[in-house]
Amino acid sequence: MMSGFSRSCAAGLLAGAALLTTAACGSGSAETPAGQSDKPEVVAAFYPLQWLTEQVGGSDVQVTVLTAPGVEPHDLELGIQQVTGIRNAALTVYIKGVQPAVDEAVEAETSFDAATAVTTIPMGEHAGEEEEHGHEEVSYDPHLWLDPARLATVATKLGERLAAADPEHAQGFKDRAATAASTLGTLDQEFAKGLSTCKSKALVTAHEAFSYLADRYRLKQVGITLDPDTEPSPTRISEVAKVAKAEGVTTIFTETLVSPKVAEVLASEVGAKTAVLDPLESKPSGDYLSAMRDNLKTLQTALGCTA
Ligand SMILES: [Zn+2]
Repeated sequence: MMSGFSRSCAAGLLAGAALLTTAACGSGSAETPAGQSDKPEVVAAFYPLQWLTEQVGGSDVQVTVLTAPGVEPHDLELGIQQVTGIRNAALTVYIKGVQPAVDEAVEAETSFDAATAVTTIPMGEHAGEEEEHGHEEVSYDPHLWLDPARLATVATKLGERLAAADPEHAQGFKDRAATAASTLGTLDQEFAKGLSTCKSKALVTAHEAFSYLADRYRLKQVGITLDPDTEPSPTRISEVAKVAKAEGVTTIFTETLVSPKVAEVLASEVGAKTAVLDPLESKPSGDYLSAMRDNLKTLQTALGCTA
């Protein structure tokens, strides 16, 4: 019933002994001075989940992240040490469909799939074009962290999950989850208000990562591609250009970690500018909240919002 939290470091190492005899137990405990390593280790798959896990876990857990800052998460490959880290961790927080390597490494009993906590949105209609991408493993769009309201729900469910796994610290997990959910609720209200009165509702993006944001705030996302690594066909670009012109789009959104080339080609075809939106697939210069507020400002300018 204690699930992963009661599993000792030593037991985890024994299980993995055939593979690794000299490895440190988990990725974080190697640098932790003796006596402080008894906190349960929680592995977060990539940045927004790391941020959320830190908010909810607080000082009762030790959080490590699988995707290094600046790395595009979808193509992540796991080293043997990271796989061992997942095996030894009390819990791994991930979203099925974002990173195939992580989907494969986690075990149901010691993992929390954030996609199971919320209502997901079906994958975009042109998803089938990109067979190489990790996204095709699931039928829904996995970029759910870009809706603060859904992320608030994830916070609550993560708090419950941590509380069940470590009843001794249950109250702390629940209290911090409630605080995180309330902070995200405030952010949600800022978005709803900030995007309520805009000239344009069309969100033309290079990588179709913003379905949840569009869904929540009634914007219309037109993505050129679902896969940041795939070169879109000229046909696809001219299709999107047609829609962009019809919608009177003035800004094409490009994003951090992805080459702006595709967005620039499209922008020049439409006669629009480009602006950067952060899909938060990697750690921003601030944190989740500040990066989302930057996104809101960018959207307000680009869409001509007056609120
Ligand atoms: Zn993505």
